[in-house]
Amino acid sequence: MTFKTSNTNNKKSRLESTHPFQFNCSLGVSCFTKCCQDINIVLTPYDVLRIKNGLAISSDEFLDRYTLIIPKENLLIPIVVLHMNETDKKCPFVTDTGCSIYSDRPWPCRMYPLDMNNDGTYRLITNDSHCLGLKEESTKIISSWLEGQEIDPYEEMNEYLSSLTIQLQSNKLGINNPKIQQMVIMALYNLDKFREFVFTSTFLDRLDVDPERIEIIKRDDYELLVFAFDWLKFGLFGKKVFWVKEKPKTE
Ligand code: SF4
Ligand code: SF4
Repeated sequence: MTFKTSNTNNKKSRLESTHPFQFNCSLGVSCFTKCCQDINIVLTPYDVLRIKNGLAISSDEFLDRYTLIIPKENLLIPIVVLHMNETDKKCPFVTDTGCSIYSDRPWPCRMYPLDMNNDGTYRLITNDSHCLGLKEESTKIISSWLEGQEIDPYEEMNEYLSSLTIQLQSNKLGINNPKIQQMVIMALYNLDKFREFVFTSTFLDRLDVDPERIEIIKRDDYELLVFAFDWLKFGLFGKKVFWVKEKPKTE
């Protein structure tokens, strides 16, 4: 993550989902949209999928126009960040009236001013001198506030991503192989290319995939991304999620 963090009270660094917190963000707060500039927003594969579909552009165009892909030394998965405007460092999607991609805004923007700890608790990543919404007299329970942020599919996809990352860290497989790196980037971040790869190469001639699943991934990008995670686990670690088709016997 992403947004700049400020010193926060230690007591606020491990909040259970049942914990109440005082917060309201609206056009009326004097800091409105101030948190949408001069920040690093790391995008997950699901963030990319949602935003490019919301904008009705291809993955290629989205990645070219709106992101920076930063390779990480000795790691297969790069960091993909939203490319802030060069001049004023603002997010390319911020307007005077708020976020122009609000319904598909990325995970860190949905979570702000909270972030999630590894143990499933939450913490405030700013304070009420930066985020005046924390001074508003409106109390929310974290879990119901998160429900309103429609965070569930993001968390499900974060689980897929962290399970892949954990496995990659323990198997230092192919990390310096540019071909493997390109395949990983394509499968996770360039879903349109991945779809093309699955349906226009010999992919389905070589792998035995449930025909019902093939039909689903043709029309459902969420399921296609889940399929991409499975394919990477199969290709990188030999996880038995697919089977290689037997070659027809020749005379
Ligand atoms: S994506 Fe939307 S909410 Fe997130 S920083 Fe940009 S304008 Fe703000
Ligand atoms: S700093 Fe806080 S209150 Fe201000 S716009 Fe951002 S989230 Fe809303």
